[in-house]
Amino acid sequence: MAIWNLGSVNIDHVYHLDRLPHPGETLAAQRYAQGLGGKGANQSVAAARAGAVTRHLGAMGAGDAWVAARLQDSGVDVSGIARLDDQVTGHAIILLDRDAENSIVIHPGANRAVSEAALSDALAAMTPADTLLLQNETNGQVAAARAAAVQGARVIYSAAPFDLDAVRAVMPHVAILAMNEGEAEQLFSGVPGDLPVQGLLITRGAEGAEYRCLTTGQVFSQPSFKVSPVDTTGAGDTFTGYFAAALDQGADIAGALRLASAAAALKVTRAGTGDAIPTRAEVDAFLA
Ligand code: ATP
Repeated sequence: MAIWNLGSVNIDHVYHLDRLPHPGETLAAQRYAQGLGGKGANQSVAAARAGAVTRHLGAMGAGDAWVAARLQDSGVDVSGIARLDDQVTGHAIILLDRDAENSIVIHPGANRAVSEAALSDALAAMTPADTLLLQNETNGQVAAARAAAVQGARVIYSAAPFDLDAVRAVMPHVAILAMNEGEAEQLFSGVPGDLPVQGLLITRGAEGAEYRCLTTGQVFSQPSFKVSPVDTTGAGDTFTGYFAAALDQGADIAGALRLASAAAALKVTRAGTGDAIPTRAEVDAFLA
């Protein structure tokens, strides 16, 4: 049993400013921080910290060794991350004002240059007991989902950043679609009627989360744990990574929802994304 995650690996460059610059204006930042980011990397860190064997698949530039090392320190197998000489590592330029309002520019770089042939080769080793995680920040999602589904593996697709065409293309190979409330609304208005997946995982921030089993019609609801929020960035990725890991470890849906909700609540009490995702020991202590 293992989680395979085809996902983005980004460097987050965070600049703290009094206010966001106007077009044409130059402002000096008061503070700068650099960290591991990307929805893919965050979900891999969450799955690995939850205790699942986690293999990240993707691509980075040739440098930035600290980024792969940071993933590895969280327990992620990084041998499936290609290092490309002709690409830069994906990165995000994040401007934050004093009210935590942000402006973000993302450059996908190597995340959109993943070799689909290498993916198919790697995923041929999947077994029906394995799970493939996907988000919409790399190329190769459909090829990977198809290769995993052929092996009988469970495919979980995080429909973010939301793109209706991307969801439509990958959906025939997906078992579970994971979305936040806004993404779910866009999906339901874009694809009215039956969806060809087994289940929908919908998160609603402080309001909680639910899993709709489309084969039985059963709905599992999980309220959020009450915490004082410090930074909600990465809450969704923490939830998805923990949910996938819990299913991989044999939990039922209700158990996976509860664990994921506790992990995401703990994340919300901490500043940062990938580095702020709690370990399984911390989540177990929170639930005890
Ligand atoms: P992000 O894009 O910030 O990572 P998201 O929009 O994908 O998040 P949300 O639905 O906001 O995802 O949050 C995911 C889960 O995190 C929620 O279902 C909940 O379990 C937990 N969570 C988020 N905000 C809070 C909060 N204020 N208090 C407790 N739990 C929270």
